[in-house]
Amino acid sequence: MAQQKRKKRYKHPVKRFIRNHFELCAVLFVLVVLLGLFLIGFGIYKLFAGSSDSPKDPAGPTTTLSPTDTVRNDPTPTPGEPTGTPEPTPMPTATPTPKLYGINESVTTDVDAEPIPGDNWPVDYLMLVNWEHRLKYSGNPENLVRLDEILTESWYTIQNPGSVAEKSRDFVIVTDEDNYDRGNRVALTYLDQMCKGYHAETGFGVKVSQTGAYRNYATQDKFWNNRDRSINPPRTIPGNASEHRTGLGFDIWVLDKEKYDYTWFRNNCYKYGFILRYPSDKSKITGITYEQWHFRYVGVEAATEMHELKYCLEEYIAYKNGQDLSTLPKH
Ligand SMILES: [Zn+2]
Repeated sequence: MAQQKRKKRYKHPVKRFIRNHFELCAVLFVLVVLLGLFLIGFGIYKLFAGSSDSPKDPAGPTTTLSPTDTVRNDPTPTPGEPTGTPEPTPMPTATPTPKLYGINESVTTDVDAEPIPGDNWPVDYLMLVNWEHRLKYSGNPENLVRLDEILTESWYTIQNPGSVAEKSRDFVIVTDEDNYDRGNRVALTYLDQMCKGYHAETGFGVKVSQTGAYRNYATQDKFWNNRDRSINPPRTIPGNASEHRTGLGFDIWVLDKEKYDYTWFRNNCYKYGFILRYPSDKSKITGITYEQWHFRYVGVEAATEMHELKYCLEEYIAYKNGQDLSTLPKH
């Protein structure tokens, strides 16, 4: 047994070494424990140091990034503009709020502007077309239709009465192969009703002559160039300044046995959305000599208000825009 024990001691040199060098082993053991504790402590330290540094380190980069971030948030710098492009677009839609009456995209106040080619330009029932407000385009406006497309049977059937004398007809429309015989669809609908009302109360008919409805640019300019220069203010206007080109203005001839009494139209036209466009007492403002036959469609609401206020179109537009009427140009 003793030999076995001795043999065992020899078989375990580590244990024998520990017994022989117990103090040394104890010191080494302590050192190893201390080293382990040190490493654990260091690890914990690194862990805390790392978590406390992490916000600081990114804080450095973010301070360099934050300018670019704020640049992106600001609409002013260029990098933000591509993503910010939707923002400027609402700006123009916000500007129409102080929209001016009388003006639309077909009208310019540049009286020297050369008319540019273009058809189907927008028509506004309150658009102002005069010496100070010119039509931009040389083509035809939108919503232009033939007179006989809108005017009712009572007009159309009497259009070609053959041998019947003109002044004894109820309604006569003189059409032409040229593009005179057209007008704005809505204005024509109301014109039809107005002339029916006139006929119902007076028994007389009406004629819208060849040149009394829509006129194209060339025709109107020809009228202007061939005008009677002894009449001042003139009774016609250049091609880009005539509302006959909008399809909203009509020269109406009353067939009342040559009396040419327009009293009924002056008193009642507003009920149908029409105004007497060039009244006798407004020539200085309109720049056009009195035309008892020229009626302009503006819509029932505006026509009624103008009738009550006794304003011509120039005055009414200025009034609606909050302008001082005394600042209107005098002709
Ligand atoms: Zn006219």
